[in-house]
Amino acid sequence: MQEIRPFSKLLVANRGEIAIRVLRAATELGIHTVAIYSKEDSLALHRYKADEAYLIGEGKGPVEAYLDIEGIIALAKRLEVDAIHPGYGFLAENARFAARCEEEGIAFIGPRPQHLEAFGDKVTARQMAVEAGLPVIPGTPEPVRQLQDALRFAREHGFPLIVKAAAGGGGRGMRVVRHKEDLEEALRMARSEAEKSFGDGTVYLEKFLEHPKHIEVQILGDRHGNLVHLFERDCSIQRRHQKVVEIAPALTLTEPQRQAICDAALRLMRRAGYVGAGTVEFLVAPDGSFYFIEVNPRIQVEHTITELITGVDLVQAQILIAQGYRLDDPAIGIRSQESIHRRGYAIQCRVTTEDPDNHFVPDTGKILAYRSAAGFGIRLDSGNGYAGAVIQPYYDSLLVKISAWALTFESAAHKMLRSLREFRIRGVKTNIPFLENVVQHPDFLAGRCDTSFIDGHPELFR
Ligand code: ADP
Repeated sequence: MQEIRPFSKLLVANRGEIAIRVLRAATELGIHTVAIYSKEDSLALHRYKADEAYLIGEGKGPVEAYLDIEGIIALAKRLEVDAIHPGYGFLAENARFAARCEEEGIAFIGPRPQHLEAFGDKVTARQMAVEAGLPVIPGTPEPVRQLQDALRFAREHGFPLIVKAAAGGGGRGMRVVRHKEDLEEALRMARSEAEKSFGDGTVYLEKFLEHPKHIEVQILGDRHGNLVHLFERDCSIQRRHQKVVEIAPALTLTEPQRQAICDAALRLMRRAGYVGAGTVEFLVAPDGSFYFIEVNPRIQVEHTITELITGVDLVQAQILIAQGYRLDDPAIGIRSQESIHRRGYAIQCRVTTEDPDNHFVPDTGKILAYRSAAGFGIRLDSGNGYAGAVIQPYYDSLLVKISAWALTFESAAHKMLRSLREFRIRGVKTNIPFLENVVQHPDFLAGRCDTSFIDGHPELFR
């Protein structure tokens, strides 16, 4: 028996493109929507995509406004909101926020607080993966507090190694170390960056894998114990350990490899009793062996390409799962694992307001002209992509996500190049010229890119 807890009002505790993505999904489900915005976002587009919008965090900073747990909960209660969707970033992985929502009788659209807690700490997540029988990269089983412990690990496993923040995300708090004499400084830098970014300076070490591909598996679980995967994404094209271009499905996996990686992801998430949308990330070595790295217990930036190849609306599924629907309910439409089919290829490019000619320094200011692409197989998810928008320095520099779908990878790549060229954005610099170079590179077209692709190809910056 499924017990449905219908949502009539949903608040999105986020901004930018993901807020709009969620507001659209909720509206399509017939749910009344509420947006929140900071003072700095008074003219931001996401507030106009909701049925109601409220200023929050008065007297707080532009980022702090979206992190104001009690302020957001008080507003939600006053408005009699049934559910809060946190998007990604900000409060999306905050176990305390999820718990506070539940305490107040508001549904948190995401996994259970204990899953946010467990997967929010990469050291704990690694232990869970080991217990579920997944291969992990050799690493320290505990956080590293002393240089001696790091040196001992290095003696045993050799260099290169990577210092990682336990609370890490977005590629921050990570340092690759190739020589013993750099270890102490790397520990210090990673700790201080982690402390600054996450308020937690805990770090651990892993062996640094050379030339891996980043392959991640999309998972969806309902509250009734049903859990499926929606295949994988290849997110190897990264700058500073941050994804720039993503592909679904991965081009170079054999069918048995794909099966093994998706099965491993399912094994971990089944054992955890995971509910909602989540992603299990792996690194795949050049010899084909794969290793778990982390779980992202939320909707991800690159979810669009999985939607394009499977036809499943992941954000609507999140909302329906939180209401108690089963995956096989016609509203979600996933009858079984076997009923999920892949069709064609999808590529996503993250267009950012960063200057590729100047070390990708974020650019700000007023967008003077904005003409976007369109056409068959092109999907755009944008936050403030319009003429007159003012790009502020406080927030993520993501301007618009372009997702291209076609039956073959080659035509998806051609479609992406055509779309990038169709864009005209004046007033702020964007990384579009750089993205154009990526999607027409022979290595990209041949599916050869690993995580060192961007660093290894300075010609992409021309
Ligand atoms: P974050 O949570 O900050 O995104 P991840 O653990 O997901 O961090 O790693 C991000 C990227 O960093 C990976 O996709 C990969 O490119 C690189 N990376 C992380 N761990 C390793 C490792 N042990 N060896 C090689 N590269 C790694």
